[in-house]
Amino acid sequence: MGKRWILLSILGMVAAAIIFLLTNPIEIFTSEPEDLVIVKAISAGNTFGQLAAEAGLATDTISSILEKSKDIYDLASIRAGKELAFVFSALDDSFKKLVYPVDTEQEFIFESVEQENTSPEWRANLVDIPYEVERKEIEATIDTSLYETFLAKGWDVRLGLELAEIFAWQIDFAADIQKNDSFKVVFEERYRDGKYVMSGKILAAQFVNSGKIFYGYYFQGNSTKVGLPTEVLTKAGYYDENGNSLQKVFLKSPLQYKYISSGFSYGRYNPILKKVSPHRGIDYAANAGTPAVAVGDGTVIQAGWNGYYGISATIRHNDTYKTVYGHFQSLAKGIKVGARVKQGQVVGYVGSTGLATGPHLHYEMHKFGSYVNPFLVEVPPGEPIAESDRIDFERIINKFIF
Ligand SMILES: [Zn+2]
Repeated sequence: MGKRWILLSILGMVAAAIIFLLTNPIEIFTSEPEDLVIVKAISAGNTFGQLAAEAGLATDTISSILEKSKDIYDLASIRAGKELAFVFSALDDSFKKLVYPVDTEQEFIFESVEQENTSPEWRANLVDIPYEVERKEIEATIDTSLYETFLAKGWDVRLGLELAEIFAWQIDFAADIQKNDSFKVVFEERYRDGKYVMSGKILAAQFVNSGKIFYGYYFQGNSTKVGLPTEVLTKAGYYDENGNSLQKVFLKSPLQYKYISSGFSYGRYNPILKKVSPHRGIDYAANAGTPAVAVGDGTVIQAGWNGYYGISATIRHNDTYKTVYGHFQSLAKGIKVGARVKQGQVVGYVGSTGLATGPHLHYEMHKFGSYVNPFLVEVPPGEPIAESDRIDFERIINKFIF
């Protein structure tokens, strides 16, 4: 909750009071004075107790809040960069309410709730943030990179990162984006009290990469309907025009766009150079320290120094496939022989250990023990939607004309 939001809501209430007075001139102004809101910005190293004391709460109130809320949300885990809002009654200065945004979806509220015939009761709750949602459409042709396109257009770059996440199994966003690639996105925008907060869900998108067209449609299917056996449920997510999940066994690239575009609104996109050698592997020239991820679920079968590969990791995905990642500066935490890894999990950080002239990621895919070009491997399409959802799905995708 921002200070401006609080100010606006107070101004709004004052305006409403004035209108009330103007339209009811005979009545005496009886509405309660406004509650006092103290907003404390959380800096690195701040604790809840410290900020609550600064806001004027007594020590026993602070311990009581911590105690009564810990099963709902542990206030020891508040994060720097966010804000705590303390609300006090204008009548007697007593503490009434605490609000903390847990993430983009939920906020933690601790407040006194009036009880009939007894004294007020303290309640802690996690509440869905009630955004106002607006549907928007954008389209653009890429000149340099997806990230630069979003910056140049003044669009929320978080939306660009989400777009790249949707097609991470189809397109190597780290290295294969070309000039004149294009995209169209139908998505939701989130507002609070009329003020833009962030981009919301992407509903449908089209991405043209090197002349090849990819579609993605968000579909929830029957997953919200109760009483159906799980095997007939469609998993909520993104599907192509034929109803196949966009999520496949292997990601298109071990370098993920979100780690390359240097965070959200700051930093610059670092171009990644990719070189495919027919019998040796794929080299991605990338900044030292760039995280590299497992392209699929699997088990680590080698981790650590490995001659020519320097610090490397090898993942066995199934009886057929394994992937190798080399020249790391260091391995990610928990990457050791026998460890289970999930698709998209960071395995190591780009470096130049072993036989490498500069920082790059060496990536190999092996099929039945022989090297294959991962970009030529036919990966089966992802799980399709349930047949019982087919008509609903067609109806939804027909709403989007690209
Ligand atoms: Zn190499």
